[in-house]
Amino acid sequence: MKKTCCWFVLLCGALLWLPACTTVPQTGRSALHLVPSSQLASMSASQFGQLKQETPISRDPAYNAMVRRVGDRIAYVAGPDMPNAQWEFVVFDDDEQINAFAMPGGKVAVYTGIFKVAKTDADLAIVMGHEVAHVAAGHGNERMTQQLLAAGGALALQFGTSDMDSDQRALLMAAYGAGASVGVMLPYSRYHECEADEIGLIYAAKAGYDPRAAISFWARMAGQSNGAPPEFLSTHPADSTRIRKLNELMPKAMQVYQNR
Ligand SMILES: [Zn+2]
Repeated sequence: MKKTCCWFVLLCGALLWLPACTTVPQTGRSALHLVPSSQLASMSASQFGQLKQETPISRDPAYNAMVRRVGDRIAYVAGPDMPNAQWEFVVFDDDEQINAFAMPGGKVAVYTGIFKVAKTDADLAIVMGHEVAHVAAGHGNERMTQQLLAAGGALALQFGTSDMDSDQRALLMAAYGAGASVGVMLPYSRYHECEADEIGLIYAAKAGYDPRAAISFWARMAGQSNGAPPEFLSTHPADSTRIRKLNELMPKAMQVYQNR
């Protein structure tokens, strides 16, 4: 029992010590982030490095130039929200993958399949703005925090009747590690999707891209769902709710676009 108490004291200490409560930029929402952002960035950097070794990288000059051009402008406007980012943009060569993602620390990847749907720089700015917004808003950290607390809670129940041995300790670390490794790939909650749409739309507008491109982009994305739906669509439903909310955000985004 003594060891269990020690464990709780340690956990509580960690909760108090870590810079836990933060505010999401742009929306001002409070969120709980228990994973130090420097740790998240270094985990992401090593995962990104591994992905680059496992996935063929596109050498298409037009695609690479487009991603670099749009990425630089999105990184510039998102910069104040991600001051420690080490930006990196990679085009993965896979025409079947209609997908893109961003990882903590400013690692951004686009699969060549996305160009079936993202035809212009403005279209790509909608995708990259959205993905970078997930990172700027700390959605990965928030989700990992939830997993960590859930794992801690479940383990705490288990430890209520016995002391923690090395196996249980390993289980906690595995739960933490699993959260860390899939943290960037799992679908976000509906709430996070809305928030990333909102922040991403403003990023695109600030970067000089017509935010109205979002409406036609998502309509085209929805059109891709015939047959095998694209990867991006499985985590980003292009339904009427999304389009309606984007339309609601449009006047504010247009104001940013026109007054920049
Ligand atoms: Zn998203």
